Amino acid sequence: MAQLIDGKKHAQKIINAVAHYTEVMVKKTNHPPSLNVILVGDNSASKIYIKGKKTKAEACGFDIAVHEFAHDISQAKLIEFITALNENQQVNAILVQLPLPPTLDSQKICQAIDKAKDVDGFNHSNTGQLWYNGSNSYRHDSTLLPCTPLAIMQLIHDIHGADLSRLNAVIVGRSNIVGKPVAGLLLSANATVTLAHSKTHELAKICRNADILIAAVGCPNLIGETYIKPGATVIDVGINKNSNNELLGDVDFNAGLKLANFITPVPGGVGPMTIALLMYNTLKASCVQVGYPIPDLLKTT
Ligand code: NAD
Repeated sequence: MAQLIDGKKHAQKIINAVAHYTEVMVKKTNHPPSLNVILVGDNSASKIYIKGKKTKAEACGFDIAVHEFAHDISQAKLIEFITALNENQQVNAILVQLPLPPTLDSQKICQAIDKAKDVDGFNHSNTGQLWYNGSNSYRHDSTLLPCTPLAIMQLIHDIHGADLSRLNAVIVGRSNIVGKPVAGLLLSANATVTLAHSKTHELAKICRNADILIAAVGCPNLIGETYIKPGATVIDVGINKNSNNELLGDVDFNAGLKLANFITPVPGGVGPMTIALLMYNTLKASCVQVGYPIPDLLKTT
């Protein structure tokens, strides 16, 4: 029977460490980290996610501002607003809550965020550094890595240590925000990496070879019994809803419990960790901007 990976517990540890470091840093600099979130339109799920981020930001001692815009704001106006935040020295961290209405180009809007304030880690400079940097350097330089991939790596390092050589990692899903960056980070940690997707043939067979299996698809119960290698570590990133409005992941949880050694639940796995890593990124961005030492609070990646 698999051991559950308690994302809430891991997340709370990071939040506590961020809050402590922030308190010390603010005493020295008199500048609390300032996180600015942009919400466009009326997406109810986005509002719930932002509420969660706000609670944690406040717990960390940050200033948090949520800027709300109607769904029909023009691309030019939104970029103008982001540019003003980029230039405002009081603002350390900027996040655009996705998804944006289809009239807006998410790529262009995310690229408008200054790389130093890009706490979602989607700016091409930060994604480029993710692939180019060695395994450990981002902990000590200004690179901001995307929060969910960073969260996944924290959970994996907690189980398998810093060096993942001799382990086969399979990621299902090749999105820019989860699958691809996780592949880069796993590679840096010496895992042998397979990135599978909707066009992959014999997915079950490929997944069965995984010591570390990461599902980031958005398809409930896609990963069934025949996909899981006995003894694997299974990280379920998917967030789906069933007909009773209950949350469930991409992995058949009972099959995972039966076969894996470790498995993340949904909810309570990767989700809370993602918010914790957003807090870490906000603190890190602030430290770099005010010339305070970068906090070394994470496990090796
Ligand atoms: P996405 O839609 O951008 O990408 C999905 C990927 O899955 C694509 O690369 C596609 O090729 C692949 N795919 C689709 N159907 C497939 C199939 N049948 N077999 C194999 N691969 C298939 O999604 P995303 O933004 O990466 O998100 C994936 C899931 O993770 C979603 O459920 C999302 O809600 C969740 N998510 C969770 C968090 C978190 O913090 N827990 C963060 C981001 C995303």
